Amino acid sequence: MAKVVISNISKSYDGKTRVLKDFNLEIASGEMFFLLGPSGCGKSTLLRILAGLVEQDSGSISFDDVDITDLLPEKRRAAMVFQNYALWPHLDVFENVAFGLRNANVKGAELKEKVMEALELVRLADLAKRKVPSLSGGQQQRIALARALAVEPSLLLLDEPLSNLDARLRDAMRNEISRICAKRNQTALYVTHDRQEALSMADRLAVLKDGSIRQMGTPEELYDFPADRFCAEFLGDVNIIPGREENGVFVSPLGNFKYTCKYPEGKLCGLIRPERIRFAADGDEGAFKARLTGRTFLGESCDWKAEANGVEFCIRESAPRSRKLNEEVSLKFDEGYFQLVPERD
Ligand code: ADP
Repeated sequence: MAKVVISNISKSYDGKTRVLKDFNLEIASGEMFFLLGPSGCGKSTLLRILAGLVEQDSGSISFDDVDITDLLPEKRRAAMVFQNYALWPHLDVFENVAFGLRNANVKGAELKEKVMEALELVRLADLAKRKVPSLSGGQQQRIALARALAVEPSLLLLDEPLSNLDARLRDAMRNEISRICAKRNQTALYVTHDRQEALSMADRLAVLKDGSIRQMGTPEELYDFPADRFCAEFLGDVNIIPGREENGVFVSPLGNFKYTCKYPEGKLCGLIRPERIRFAADGDEGAFKARLTGRTFLGESCDWKAEANGVEFCIRESAPRSRKLNEEVSLKFDEGYFQLVPERD
């Protein structure tokens, strides 16, 4: 499968606001790369440019070092899976999956073989003769995936493909898409605003804000070492701890920390994820006192609200114990999980 290089892509729809700003990205062959960002940050625009459905103002795209920037959509070997499936209701499943192949002039036994192989990959070969409206949402999404895969694309583009499915089906489809892409060694670019989808499926991901990449890396890197407050909050719940610099030290209500930041820019704040704060025994080294002020019991975990030295924060306790509100407790966390990052939004 292909290595994809996106170089300096810019796009404005109205000639004023740039939806994508000098966008650069390299996706390795066989990699499942995720773009994560809020609505309107330019994710779908980038996918459409890669598919050849929208024209960029400047920049270039190559698949395996071959420049495809000026190729028509059907010549690019990029196939897209849409949020709303975009299947043809009047055609049966076989013909829906065959669509891209017929356009590429594949016929007869070869056509049948490729369609059935794609349907087997999504485990729906027995539905080949069914009409689309008689299928469930999850089945329709798998047919859309089969149609995209049938043409053996160099790059598979997925635009929020699971947004219309209920939570249980979404989980099952995450596994299914990961399995299929790994089996095919499929290079894929997957767009979503769902952090769990991105964290659980991505080889690497990028957080997008206003048309450019804020941070790129593995799910673990982005979750544990966010580049700024925006990335931290976008990837999961996080406590924002205020503080000030004094002689190279960040002085905060939760303690003093070395004033170092990997991406220094403007005012810094402290971050600690709720699940990184643990209940400790009185007198434990590094422990500090806090008062429990609120409780949200979630079964397998409990979110406690706590207060220490005038700052409120959340603690996520897995396998929760019973504790009293207003109780004074000792807490601690590994200093490595307390990050100083730019406040910028
Ligand atoms: P996302 O997928 O991250 O939600 P989009 O790429 O769809 O973002 O949109 C980025 C920005 O471009 C938004 O402000 C949106 O309104 C605008 N936009 C998208 N498509 C068009 C279009 N066809 N014409 C004009 N503006 C558009």
